[in-house]
Amino acid sequence: MNKLSDIGTIKDILSRHGFTFSKALGQNFLINPSVCPRMAELSGAGKGVGVIEIGPGIGVLTNELCRLADRVVAIELDKRLLPVLDETLAEYDNLRIVNDDVMKIDLHKLIDDEFKNMEVVVCANLPYYITSPVIMRLLEEKLPISAITVMVQKEAAQRICAEVGSRQSGAVTVSVNYYAQPEMLFNVSAGSFMPAPKVDSAVIRLNVLNEPPIEVNDEKKFFSVVKAAFSQRRKVIANSLSSGLLLDKKTVTEILEKSGVSANARAEMLTLVNFADIANNL
Ligand code: SAM
Repeated sequence: MNKLSDIGTIKDILSRHGFTFSKALGQNFLINPSVCPRMAELSGAGKGVGVIEIGPGIGVLTNELCRLADRVVAIELDKRLLPVLDETLAEYDNLRIVNDDVMKIDLHKLIDDEFKNMEVVVCANLPYYITSPVIMRLLEEKLPISAITVMVQKEAAQRICAEVGSRQSGAVTVSVNYYAQPEMLFNVSAGSFMPAPKVDSAVIRLNVLNEPPIEVNDEKKFFSVVKAAFSQRRKVIANSLSSGLLLDKKTVTEILEKSGVSANARAEMLTLVNFADIANNL
């Protein structure tokens, strides 16, 4: 539908369908007409590409994705939006709307069934209450996708895109960098949404790596080290690992020494290689 990102059109559609926003489902819909075309373009949607969208809302971003990509599958949990989407996206025959929860749906099967021989990317204005779980699910499941372009709260974007080993880094920075190369694309003001959230947002792209950038013998151990290290980020690494991994201080000090990491370092100072060495020496 043309003019779908026009505020008047959106208000008209929502009132005709008697739609009320659900805060619990993170429903802040985009009303800034310049954001969706830019986001869709930068997501890699194009000829020969299939796109998974999470939470299409009334379909503003979906509309742009359908114009560019060969096929789009949009997963929407709120079934009240299905008749709205039927109306707003009626012109596209390269689209399927799936009424499901992105945290529960079998994404490997969805990709197998829907995107034969296509490069697959994800593009979404994520519901903020599940930003990190969704991103980590997409990465941890090792799906055959090449990029994830998502709108998230600005603070989350900065954390994810921080350099590993810098003050801004956190467990999510290290975890994401194990699977992907994150990139900050552009900022989006709170006023670009209806209803306007309290904070600004940003669009980031995670370029998914074919192989992790470090050698890790046991991924479970690696991620438990990362989690323990950042669980008490003010503490020195020897203390946070000792309490987080339930190991005595002497054992931890020995592992750190073997890994070439100072017992007094803080989690935010460690590199990916440091985390891998610690996990491999556990
Ligand atoms: N894409 C639209 C836009 O940019 O205007 C809407 C984005 S809104 C921030 C998030 C959307 O995700 C809503 O449509 C909401 O109903 C949907 N949603 C929330 N939780 C979901 C879940 N677990 N699985 C799938 N969709 C979900």
